Amino acid sequence: MKASPTDKSKLDVSIDNQVEAELTRIIYRAAGFGLFSNIALSIIYAFGIWSYFPMSLTLGWLATILFFTGVRIILHRQFFQRERSDDELPHWRKAFLIAMILGTIPWGFAGWVFLGSEDLLPRALTIMVIAGLNAGAARSLASVKSAYLIYASLTLPIVLIRFISFHEIGSWTLALCTLNYILFLVKTAQMQRNDLQQLYRLNFEKQNLVKTLSEEKEKAEQANRAKSDFLAVMSHEIRTPMNGVIGMLDILKHSDLTPAQREQIEVAAGSADSLLRLLNDILDLSRIESGRLQFEATRFSPTRLIKEVGDLFSASAGIKQLRWSTEVEGDIPAGVEGDPLRLRQVLLNLLGNAVKFTEAGSITLRISRLAEAPAGHVSLQFSIIDTGIGMEAETLERLFQKFSQADSSTTRRFGGSGLGLAISQQLVQRMGGEIVVTSTPGQGSQFCFKIELPIAELPPLIPSTAADFPFSSTPHSGRILVADDDSVNRRVIHKMLERLGYEAVLAADGTEAVAHSLDEPWALILMDVQMPRMDGVEATRLIRAQPATAGTPIIAFTASVMTDERDRYLATGFQDVISKPIRQTELKACLDQWIR
Ligand code: ADP
Repeated sequence: MKASPTDKSKLDVSIDNQVEAELTRIIYRAAGFGLFSNIALSIIYAFGIWSYFPMSLTLGWLATILFFTGVRIILHRQFFQRERSDDELPHWRKAFLIAMILGTIPWGFAGWVFLGSEDLLPRALTIMVIAGLNAGAARSLASVKSAYLIYASLTLPIVLIRFISFHEIGSWTLALCTLNYILFLVKTAQMQRNDLQQLYRLNFEKQNLVKTLSEEKEKAEQANRAKSDFLAVMSHEIRTPMNGVIGMLDILKHSDLTPAQREQIEVAAGSADSLLRLLNDILDLSRIESGRLQFEATRFSPTRLIKEVGDLFSASAGIKQLRWSTEVEGDIPAGVEGDPLRLRQVLLNLLGNAVKFTEAGSITLRISRLAEAPAGHVSLQFSIIDTGIGMEAETLERLFQKFSQADSSTTRRFGGSGLGLAISQQLVQRMGGEIVVTSTPGQGSQFCFKIELPIAELPPLIPSTAADFPFSSTPHSGRILVADDDSVNRRVIHKMLERLGYEAVLAADGTEAVAHSLDEPWALILMDVQMPRMDGVEATRLIRAQPATAGTPIIAFTASVMTDERDRYLATGFQDVISKPIRQTELKACLDQWIR
């Protein structure tokens, strides 16, 4: 945005005002000590000239100067009683000048009357005191343009004229010296004022600049958050019908089809899966960028996590006939505290790429304990090493940028959105680490990152199998209660259950589910987590609280994308979690496990 000329001059005027206000504050600050030395000096001076002039004259002079200095001290204290806004300062500047003029006139008077003495001592004393006061004032009054000029003109010219009026040898020399002194002090005060003015101008310009920049930054961040919010809402909204499409295709896949029809459905389902993955990535990224991503601090076993992730990938590596190995180096603590789901997400993505971009050779997932870590913490390094196609230096440079892939042929050959590494890097950075890559084209790549985690005792295991669950063998009706607010999803699940030989009753939200829960002894309840009116977590809590339904297995299904959030849901009372889009095989495995 460009500032218009009027904006510019407005800004200049406002900075000028700020500078002048600060210079007024300085004059009050600088005057403080001078006022007390003014009192001391006038008393010493009065003693010095005491025997040369009538007592009434000396005392009268001293009383006047002490009175006005007293007034200036009161004014000074009033000023510092509270913070003064810039708008008030012109009045305070005026008050300062008036009090200063009144306090300086007696010194002008001394410069005429007491300097007029025939004796050397009062003359010398007067010259010394007035010259000294002026030297001090040239510094302390410099910040306000007229202040020192007024001060000097009320004292030194009088001394100068007094010298001339002596009509003695050397009178003119003294007068010229005084004139020289006046010019020197006025110039010194002026230079000091200019320096102060410039300094404060720069200071306020800098402050304004910082303010403008941070406002602009805030605006840009807001716009970015709005964009991320929009993306999050859009991708979430698109996901819901996508779940319907994928669910129905899955049902179709399991029906009697001709080979041609099966092939067509496989293609449609593959495309729907790719689209869903892209939506999930966009949703993840927009959550990270809008700062909405919360990190958990749960206790987990790093070696168990590595094993779980390894188990997932050893099969896909096996299909491509790749050697698969997991290596654990050093003394890895049994439990640490952190966010296992985010860590898992990063490892899944890096391993997914390793498998995707390796045609022959091996893939290694290594976890090593590093020596450096503060007390009670462990520094863990995760490495994913493959012997795949590797990357050129220029690919490496923009590897963590959004939507970046080696070239368009990579997309055609391997698919993918180019978002996975951008997401992983941001997740690792939020965990205090950084993914570092080394790669040689044709030989393979190594992705490494290290994170520091507090060492923690592992919590007791949450019952997660049917055997651990005490009530799962209670007699039941064989029917399943399904709660989901989305009608398409309800239909999909209904159809799947029908095909698996179950009868289902449908509820549109948590309140309906709780109301139906007592209708009969359900074999199982399938509960969507996010629902209007009453969500699945609350409904499950209520169902668990009723003695008749406390033992009914309740399975959460969730569209939560970032992670499957399994542990979190298990902790809130669900027996198991299935993520959307629901696949018939997954649903069957779950029902087989829980319905006895
Ligand atoms: P995508 O979903 O396209 O895989 P990523 O952000 O995960 O997106 O990866 C971006 C690009 O980085 C990939 O398209 C590929 O060109 C390159 N890449 C990532 N991992 C590897 C790897 N292990 N070996 C070779 N190239 C890789």
